[in-house]
Amino acid sequence: MSEHECVFVEEEEPSGRKILVPCLTCGYPGMDALEQLRDDVAMWSRTAKDIVKEMRALAEDFNANGNSRELGDPRAAVWHEAARLIVTRLEHGA
Ligand SMILES: [Zn+2]
Repeated sequence: MSEHECVFVEEEEPSGRKILVPCLTCGYPGMDALEQLRDDVAMWSRTAKDIVKEMRALAEDFNANGNSRELGDPRAAVWHEAARLIVTRLEHGA
């Protein structure tokens, strides 16, 4: 199947409830796509929250020794720790 952007058309049932019909190109059910999107958003917001929490924990160290150092300065260990946290989170999710 060729790469494409799935298109889900919103239709209204006789009851008035709005539903998404499956993608016209590949038949992928719109509701599944919405579910997947919700899961992704939830996962990313959890991940972001955890990163913020861990960054907050590092904030004092930032002020103490990271703030005045350039990125890449080997003495700025706290920067590297922060970068490592972010990369780990992004790679492995929550
Ligand atoms: Zn599709």
